[in-house]
Amino acid sequence: MPEQVDLFVIGAGSGGVRAARIASGYGARVMVAEEYRVGGTCVIRGCVPKKLLVYASRFSKDFEDAAGYGWTVPEPTFDWPTLIANKDREIARLEAAYTSTLERAKVAVVKSRAVIEDPHTVRLLATGETVRAKTILIATGGSPHAGAQIAGLEHVISSNEAFDLKELPKRILIQGGGYIAVEFAGIFNGLGSEVTLVYRGDNILRGFDDDIRAHLRSEMEKRGIKIVTRQTVTDVEKVDHGLCVGLSDHESFTVDKVMFATGRRPLIAGLGLEAAGVRLADTGGIAVDAFSQTSVPNIYAVGDVTNRINLTPVAIREGHAFADSVFGNKPTPIDHADVATAVFSEPEVGVVGLSETEARARLARVDIYKTVFRPMKATLAGRDTRTFMKLVVDGSNDRLVGCHMVGPDAGEIIQIVAIAVKMKATKADFDLTMAVHPTAAEELVTMRERASTWAREAAE
Ligand code: NDP
Repeated sequence: MPEQVDLFVIGAGSGGVRAARIASGYGARVMVAEEYRVGGTCVIRGCVPKKLLVYASRFSKDFEDAAGYGWTVPEPTFDWPTLIANKDREIARLEAAYTSTLERAKVAVVKSRAVIEDPHTVRLLATGETVRAKTILIATGGSPHAGAQIAGLEHVISSNEAFDLKELPKRILIQGGGYIAVEFAGIFNGLGSEVTLVYRGDNILRGFDDDIRAHLRSEMEKRGIKIVTRQTVTDVEKVDHGLCVGLSDHESFTVDKVMFATGRRPLIAGLGLEAAGVRLADTGGIAVDAFSQTSVPNIYAVGDVTNRINLTPVAIREGHAFADSVFGNKPTPIDHADVATAVFSEPEVGVVGLSETEARARLARVDIYKTVFRPMKATLAGRDTRTFMKLVVDGSNDRLVGCHMVGPDAGEIIQIVAIAVKMKATKADFDLTMAVHPTAAEELVTMRERASTWAREAAE
C-alpha cells in the first residue's frame, strides 16, 4: 500500500509542532495526531501558564515594596478564579494560534490518540483508521510521576491539576525539590498560601551548583516557605478540615492541598513501540542518536519522550533539526552542550554551563568568582533579600565555563551570558566589557577578586 503521508507526527507539543511545520515547508505531506490539546505541556499546562502564575504571585511583594517608594496602596485583595479564568483565556488563544500555524503550513491535524502498528502504519484510535507513513516522529512528551504508591495518593495533585484548582489553598504541602516544586512553592507563597516543601535529599535543586542551592533555599525561607529536608511523604489522609500528611520522621502536617512534583516520565505506554521494534534507553526514554533517529530507521523521536534534556527550547531545536536532516537535506546533529536554563522560583535562578563541582571533576584548575549584594530596588523597599552571582572559570585557559545566578531577572540575564559561554568567552573578555550602570548584570563584568582557586594537583 502506498504511503499517504511523508511524515506522521505523534504529539502536537513544542517539538512535534516545530518538526511538522518545518517538514511541511520542505514539501513533505505531514499529519499530526494529538489526543489532548494542541500546544503540549509547555503551552497548556507547563511553562506558559506557570509563568503567568509567577507574574501574579510577585505582585504581593511589589505592593509591599511600593510603600518605601512613597506609594500608599490600599490593602490589596487577590481573586484566584479571576487569575485562572484569564490564564485559561490566554492558553485558549495560544492553542488556537498553534492550530492555525499548523493549518497555514498545510499540516493535517487529527484529534486522536495514535498507536504505531508497524514501522510504516499508525492507527488513529478516534476513528479506527490507519495511516501509512514514510517517516514517523514520536513527540509525546512526558507526564507527572508520583513516585511511591503511598496510602491516600488519590488525594494528591500534580502540576496538571494545580493550574485548575477551584480555589487557592490556604495551606499546601509540596513534595519534591526540583524545578516544579520550587516554582510552585514560590507561586503559592506569593499568592498568600502557607507553603511547606518536603524534599527527600539534603537540599533542593540537586544537580545545580551548591551555592545556588543554598542561596535559593535561604531566600525561600526568608519569604516564609517552610522547607523540610531528608523526609518523604508516607501517607495522606482526609480529615475534617483538610488533609493530614504523614512524613517519614512521623511528623505530620494538616493542609488543604498536597502536590507532588516528583519528576516526570516519558509518555511511552501504549504507543506500540515494542511492536515496531523501537528500543528504550536506560533513562526510560526512547533511545535516539544525535539526529533523533531511533533503533527503527524511519522512526524518530524528539523532546521529553527521549529524556535527554527536558526543556521546551531543546525539544523545539530537536524537532527543527530532525526536519532539516530528514526533509531538508541538511543533516543537523543536536548540540546539547551548555544549555542555559532558568528556574522561575522566587527569586529566579539562571544557570549555564558547569557547576563548580562539575568543573572540578573535569578540569585541572578552576577559578571561582562570586558576589552577593542587595538588589537596588530592595534598598528603599527595606526588603531583606540578596542576589547571588558566580562565575566558574577554567583556570588553564581563562574560559568562562559556568555562570550561576539567583536574583530578579536571572532568566533574562542568563540567556545573554549563554551566548558568551557558547562563544568560548574568557574571563578577560568579561573584564574588558564596559558595565551598564546601575544594573544587577553589571556585576558579571566587574568581579575582579577571585573567591577561590582549585587545582587538581594540589587537591590530590
Ligand atoms: P525534577 O526532576 O526537576 O525534580 C523531581 C524532584 O522530585 C527531585 O527533587 C527528586 O529528588 C524528587 N523525587 C523524585 N522521585 C521521588 C520520590 N519517589 N519521592 C520523593 N521525592 C522524589 O522534576 P520536576 O517534576 O520538578 O520537573 C520535571 C522536569 O520538567 C524538570 O526536570 C525540567 O526538565 C522540566 N521543567 C523545567 C522548567 C523550567 O525550565 N523552568 C519548569 C518545570 C519543569 P532527587 O533530587 O533526590 O532525585
